[in-house]
Amino acid sequence: MELDVRYRSTRDNGKILKASQAIIQGLSEDGGLFVPDIFPKLEVKLEQLALMDYKEVAYEVMKLFFTDFTEEELKYCIERAYDSKFDTEEIAPLSYVDDTYYMELFHGKTIAFKDMALSILPYLMTTSAKKNDVKEKIIILTATSGDTGKAALAGFADVEGCGIVVFYPKGGVSNIQELQMVTQKGANVKVVGINGNFDDAQTGVKKIFSDEEFKAELKQMGYRFSSANSINIGRLIPQVAYYVYAYSRLVKEGKIAAGDPINFTVPTGNFGNILAGFYAKKIGIPVHKLICASNENKVLYDFFETGVYDKNRDFILTTSPSMDILISSNLERLIYEITGENSDECKKLMQSLSGKGMYEIAPEMKAKCKDFVGGYATEEEVLERIHEIYDRTGYVMDTHTAVASFVYKMYAHDTGDTTTNVVVSTASPYKFTRSVMEALEGKTEKEDDFVLIDRLSEMSGMPIPKAVEEIRNAEILHHTVCEKDGMKEEVRKFLEKL
Ligand SMILES: *Cc1c(COP(=O)(O)O)cnc(C)c1O
Repeated sequence: MELDVRYRSTRDNGKILKASQAIIQGLSEDGGLFVPDIFPKLEVKLEQLALMDYKEVAYEVMKLFFTDFTEEELKYCIERAYDSKFDTEEIAPLSYVDDTYYMELFHGKTIAFKDMALSILPYLMTTSAKKNDVKEKIIILTATSGDTGKAALAGFADVEGCGIVVFYPKGGVSNIQELQMVTQKGANVKVVGINGNFDDAQTGVKKIFSDEEFKAELKQMGYRFSSANSINIGRLIPQVAYYVYAYSRLVKEGKIAAGDPINFTVPTGNFGNILAGFYAKKIGIPVHKLICASNENKVLYDFFETGVYDKNRDFILTTSPSMDILISSNLERLIYEITGENSDECKKLMQSLSGKGMYEIAPEMKAKCKDFVGGYATEEEVLERIHEIYDRTGYVMDTHTAVASFVYKMYAHDTGDTTTNVVVSTASPYKFTRSVMEALEGKTEKEDDFVLIDRLSEMSGMPIPKAVEEIRNAEILHHTVCEKDGMKEEVRKFLEKL
């Protein structure tokens, strides 16, 4: 029997939307995030999943949540998303390295895991617009800590009926990340650096979303906003698929029996990726622990230890910039859940976060977080881990993956838990070559990024991805930099020219 899944705002659960409406809207008007009101169970057995390919698994997952899409619509989106844009037929291959598995989510167009969801979001978005008879052009506003920006640009560039503006922290992303964004082609794209950090960018975007006056002005011009950040349910749900897929591969290869529990260790920033792992558990994947790995911006580690979420601390720029985040937006979806789906309570906590920069959850709420374990890695530990694994196995991982790899090592050591573990590998080492080479060679010389890239290729034998070759000589097309409070004006200027 098909269940009809509706979406409710975490801050006002009287508001009920269909999936396609929630995808178009992105964020609820009250500032809350949309969450499914029920979690149906997978309709096929775990043994059957093992016989499916990535697209088939993705369909089994997405049909549970996007119940107002027809089979034809969903399959259309999936077919177009997970094709030869990925450099491996597996889409999300598992590598066995040093007694654990690495699920490589960086084989897409922009070589970070954001491609897993942003390859499909434009199709979900345009299909949703059609279903709901939306006449306005959809303008995607996105704040990025480095990887979402490029993946969203690549996904939405020249998509009919859409425009996209990306804000990134100037000086807060890697050179390669910045180059990838500022060389983006397309008549409907704009890239803006802001003098601020990722949280400033994200807060600025959320503010524009809830600016009713601006929205009315836009409507007049024939535009409406949506989001490509992981606050959009159209991004979160496609991410559930690779957790299910990883499990199905382990069963297929006889590494586990169907029904055996496994752990995932996830390098975490905005809490979107790991939350998708939690949703995979809720639809029936036997997940024992979700190990939440932070870098030195360890708000989430402290939260899982103490029940206090406190962003009042220095923002640290690390070698894993995509995790340099103090306000993990998607945690709100977990908070909503552990309040027993009490949107008033959730709203209070979030108001405390925006007012005082902190909140504390009740002991009975904390007890409901037992699926999660927090851990963190210092800058030194990250670089050491990259070096150690390369020395021992020849496998090269990026800095974000190394945060998780280190945290998993400590977790296994401290707990003695021998459950099969999958480290979620979120970026290609070629995206963070400078830090990776520093780890491998133990020094920092002022060599050009592309010299380092060529040497990494020689050392590792890993072919240089197309995404990197493309930017080697590409022209820089975006030069705009603005202040934190100038974001709205940049959006207006872009729309006037569009
Ligand atoms: C975005 C990103 C993360 C963090 O993922 P969240 O869903 O924000 O927790 C980790 N690693 C890389 C490489 C990323 O791009």
